[in-house]
Amino acid sequence: MTTASVGRTVHYVSHGTPVREDGTRAFEPQCRAAIITEVDPDSPGRVGLAVVNPTGLFFHPLSAGGAELAEGEDRAAGSWHWPERV
Ligand SMILES: [Zn+2]
Repeated sequence: MTTASVGRTVHYVSHGTPVREDGTRAFEPQCRAAIITEVDPDSPGRVGLAVVNPTGLFFHPLSAGGAELAEGEDRAAGSWHWPERV
């Protein structure tokens, strides 16, 4: 497993919009480019991120909880992971 470090580019899983009554949703959770801005020294899987959305930046610092590394294939909204190889 690669160790998280400041400046690495990763994926952040965005929160989608709420599911409508008919089961559809305007925006599904999806991978967004993000740059690691901080690494929690006590928990290296928890990082601060600058998320680069197509229409703007979103900052997710450790002081606001940061983001946890998603383990395996379970990639919950609000977590991060190394970019998939394509
Ligand atoms: Zn991804």
